[in-house]
Amino acid sequence: MNNQDSETLANFKKEMLDQTFRDAVSTISKEGNRNYIHPQKPKGRLYNLRSYFSYFYLVLFFTLPFIKIGGEPIFLINVLERKFILFGKIFWPQDFFIFAIGFLTFLVFIILFTVAFGRIWCGWACPQTIFMEMVFRKIEFFIEGDVTKQKRLNSMPWNGEKILKKGGKLIVFFMLSFLIANFFLGYIIGIDEVGKLVKEGIFVHFGTFSALVIFTMVFFFVYIWFREQACIIVCPYGRLQGVLLDKNSILVAYDYVRGEPRGKAKEDGHGDCVNCHACVRVCPTGIDIRNGTQLECVNCTACIDACDEIMEHVGNPKGLIRYASENNIALNEKTTYTWRLKMYTIVLTALISFLAILLITRADVSARIIKTPGQTYQKLDDNKISNLYNIKLANKTRKLIHLDLKLEDIDGEIKMINNIDVPKESYFQTSFFVVFRKDQLHHRKTKIKVGIYENGKRIQSATATFLGPAI
Ligand code: SF4
Ligand code: SF4
Repeated sequence: MNNQDSETLANFKKEMLDQTFRDAVSTISKEGNRNYIHPQKPKGRLYNLRSYFSYFYLVLFFTLPFIKIGGEPIFLINVLERKFILFGKIFWPQDFFIFAIGFLTFLVFIILFTVAFGRIWCGWACPQTIFMEMVFRKIEFFIEGDVTKQKRLNSMPWNGEKILKKGGKLIVFFMLSFLIANFFLGYIIGIDEVGKLVKEGIFVHFGTFSALVIFTMVFFFVYIWFREQACIIVCPYGRLQGVLLDKNSILVAYDYVRGEPRGKAKEDGHGDCVNCHACVRVCPTGIDIRNGTQLECVNCTACIDACDEIMEHVGNPKGLIRYASENNIALNEKTTYTWRLKMYTIVLTALISFLAILLITRADVSARIIKTPGQTYQKLDDNKISNLYNIKLANKTRKLIHLDLKLEDIDGEIKMINNIDVPKESYFQTSFFVVFRKDQLHHRKTKIKVGIYENGKRIQSATATFLGPAI
């Protein structure tokens, strides 16, 4: 069969699939109520692999706030004080340009990654999936048992067993939400500040305490009730899939060419899908992947494991549901490195290089020199002319910095009004005079460059204009 025949057959089989599933969301009933999904406990090779990954992420999540470089957290996003720390380096609002480039780089990376690998991030690394599927769901299975036991528990009247299990689950979920909220807050204000709340009490740190309560309630709500709806309804990344994916993107996909028409294993004329619904039963978002790529699919791979087990059981090759692109399934084409991917890679490489240069050359002190408003020049004795300037400095480090100013590439003098001692993590402003002999000036306006020195080492320079009499 050539490519064209395969495509025709593939399209025909696809059209045969009922598309009405797109009219509804699996988590909302026809009456508009919450349709609570009880997926079967997944098991299999990919699930085990994902579990190992999740252990690594969890260790990372709970240890990163304690790791410091030069006394600073390795990672902090203090949106309240507009202070960001990455690998121990403090970034300020003055570093906005670096942020803008960093954000752009991140966006292009996401786009490139999604075009190539679909929602692999959602299934393997997204904190929501990790906490939901690898922490809370596992605890739920541990307390309430697998799906049949969960349903039985839900339908039974309130008795000792139900109160114990449901109550126990609520308490454990709440305590875990509280723990996660503490660490989440640690990433925002620093784990030391969270520690102060514990040591000094809630009345001294009422703001921190309020934030902690809010985060705890949000996490508790998400994991006890909202669950997969965070991915389906709230997450903007999920919504981007429609525009980012193409026929070469690799996704968790059902091989409809091989699987359709579905039916009992031994019946003549049927494809490999035995219509057992094992893939549907394990799906945490309640969808049937055989309907095609869907917004709800978080690429958790549970259906791959479930189907592989069935295929093994009925003696068919594994991989009826697998990581594959549409072209891979419909045309039996190998995944190609398309022009679209190549262009994204070029842009991403350029952005990463630019960002690296910005980060390497970023100074701990930023300075801006402006001529003091309302002043032109002053005539001094000895045939000298002076201009008055304001200097604004931002110290991005956590130590007091003493600075000196020197004129660069030109003879002249700087007369300070005050010493420049910039307190840690602060702004500082002072004034100074630049003095030239009249014979040193050849134009009415002279460009000057002022070097900013710390312990005799130039750390920055800023330019300004010196105004003299008309020549
Ligand atoms: S369709 Fe498969 S990969 Fe997608 S969410 Fe459901 S079980 Fe996970
Ligand atoms: S698990 Fe495999 S065989 Fe069973 S319904 Fe799903 S795709 Fe078909």
